[in-house]
Amino acid sequence: MLLKTKVIQGEQAGPHLLITAGVHGDEFEGIVAVQRLMRELVATATRGKVTLVPVVNESAFGQKNRCGKDGLDLARTCPGNPQGSVTEQAASALTQLIETADLYVDLHSGGVTMDVYPLAGYMLVESPQVLEASRRMARAFALPLVWGTTDKLDGRSMSAARDAQVPAIYVEYRGEGRCNQHGVEAMINGCRNVMAEFGLLEKVVPEPRQQIVHEDPRPESGHMQICCPAPKDGVFETAVTVGQFVKQGDVLGTLSDPFTGEGQEVVSSQTGSVIVLRTYPQVGQGDALAVVLEDERELPPC
Ligand SMILES: [Zn+2]
Repeated sequence: MLLKTKVIQGEQAGPHLLITAGVHGDEFEGIVAVQRLMRELVATATRGKVTLVPVVNESAFGQKNRCGKDGLDLARTCPGNPQGSVTEQAASALTQLIETADLYVDLHSGGVTMDVYPLAGYMLVESPQVLEASRRMARAFALPLVWGTTDKLDGRSMSAARDAQVPAIYVEYRGEGRCNQHGVEAMINGCRNVMAEFGLLEKVVPEPRQQIVHEDPRPESGHMQICCPAPKDGVFETAVTVGQFVKQGDVLGTLSDPFTGEGQEVVSSQTGSVIVLRTYPQVGQGDALAVVLEDERELPPC
């Protein structure tokens, strides 16, 4: 399978930056940001090369869903299989593309079901050079949260970058089934900032912005889908918003039985800021309801 890409070749030599979106088919901020970059970067003289992929998992996009027709989550399928199912093939094509890059940015958001605080994340990889370059990319992206997490998780685009020793970040920005315009702008600016930081574009001084840097090497850190699992099927009503600071024991929301109306409070087991919140109300047992960043510093409003 070949991914549909646009390659912008600069006039002078320089690094190869890969920017992807649509690893999940229902995350629109990144898809629109890459579409805009496809149009706008052509007019800008760049050094090096930029490869843009607006929709990595076409099958998932066609399904209007996070996952492809085969039910697989591409971000759990890398390095994939060129002879496998649609998502396995797309994962394989993505992995091969990552192996050709010097720098990699993967754009995500909360999709239909989640709201996510704006953040740039990376894996705490063993190579000091790759880690430092990933940190520089994440900080340059200029979102309010920079989040380094374990490099022990497999299947992700970040895992493929880790294995290929390519400095890489992923970006999250809101979601809830929308295409948040602030998110689109922030992603475009962030990609341009990364290009400037690594010499692909003329350096522009980004507006100073409050930024919290949090690194957490614990196993499973950064695995959002296992945090605060719903104890049963039901309807989840949120009592907090993304970015809000909560203490251990604070109520995150109420989970009610759709047929009896009987509700139970879902409380936070941690103290920190809510960075991911399930905002699509119908949930199944085990679905992640929230992610709380265990950090005593309050996050800037988003
Ligand atoms: Zn995603």
